Amino acid sequence: MAKEEIKKIQNLQPKLAQHFMTIISENELTHAYLFVGSAGSGRLELAKLAAMRLFCQNPDDQGFPCGVCNECRRIIEKEHPDVVEIEPDGQSIKVDQVRFLKSEFSKSAVEGNQKVFIIFAAETMTTSAANSLLKFIEEPVGNTVAFLITSNRNLILPTILSRSQVVEFPQISKSQLKEIAAAAGIPAGTLNLSISLTNDLDQMKKLNENDWLSDIQQAVGKWFDKLVNKDDMAFVQVATEIMPLVHDKKSQQVVLDVITAIWHETLEHEFQISRQDSEVFPQQRNSIDNALRGITQLKLVAIMQDCLATRRQLLGNISFQNIVESLTLTILKRI
Ligand SMILES: [Zn+2]
Repeated sequence: MAKEEIKKIQNLQPKLAQHFMTIISENELTHAYLFVGSAGSGRLELAKLAAMRLFCQNPDDQGFPCGVCNECRRIIEKEHPDVVEIEPDGQSIKVDQVRFLKSEFSKSAVEGNQKVFIIFAAETMTTSAANSLLKFIEEPVGNTVAFLITSNRNLILPTILSRSQVVEFPQISKSQLKEIAAAAGIPAGTLNLSISLTNDLDQMKKLNENDWLSDIQQAVGKWFDKLVNKDDMAFVQVATEIMPLVHDKKSQQVVLDVITAIWHETLEHEFQISRQDSEVFPQQRNSIDNALRGITQLKLVAIMQDCLATRRQLLGNISFQNIVESLTLTILKRI
């Protein structure tokens, strides 16, 4: 397990991973880092890799942690007493959470132990939490290092920014992501769909558990086939084919994203900017061609807007089934 995590970050961010292994072996780690990058760019994985390297009993020849010793395993399993992770409690990181961190920090100063703190979504720190953390960063104690992780450096207090070493994570390209996802076992049939939905490998794996995403892909594909043939059965299929696959808010969001994706793909064909190796719905190629023959460009754009509007509706109080059924009726009327 830990070994897999190490492989993953070596593939995602080879240069950064090597860089951190080198500065750790040269004892040049500073007290606070701010990792800036989008979801899936390997920020948390790199922080954990650094933590493993600091504690690993048996680093390999290239200076990477072994991934099998007790220390490495406990870090990956979030059970290491000296590696503390905090993430937002609800919408934000509260001052109490930072106080807890600081008490851990000061304990380590007394004991002289190595400690690692990982603060996920650091931009959600309340001002008092950030100020509290700032005091620590200004006067670091003992053998400690903090990794602050964010997707938006503009939301980080300037005082924290100026006292942390900022590390910008390069965006992962789609083709790189595709290779990584394929190597991680994401099935070929949903590979393009998976990377169009998320950059995050763990999320991709979740979506593909028990072929759930493949089932959604087929259900939405059939619904699309009916729609472009102007078949009213598309309406019934919402209840019979799509709804049985939807279990919670998150899966509702994914279904809307998949619905949007198939119309997006149709538009890409219309504007001739689609690429065969990135097709999300290869099975629907005939239906897409049908749609292109029968539906004007203007209407396709309007349908795309209808699809995008469903995201806002999902935030309101309308039932999910109602949202998809009324979208179906709107599209049937348009075409
Ligand atoms: Zn190890």
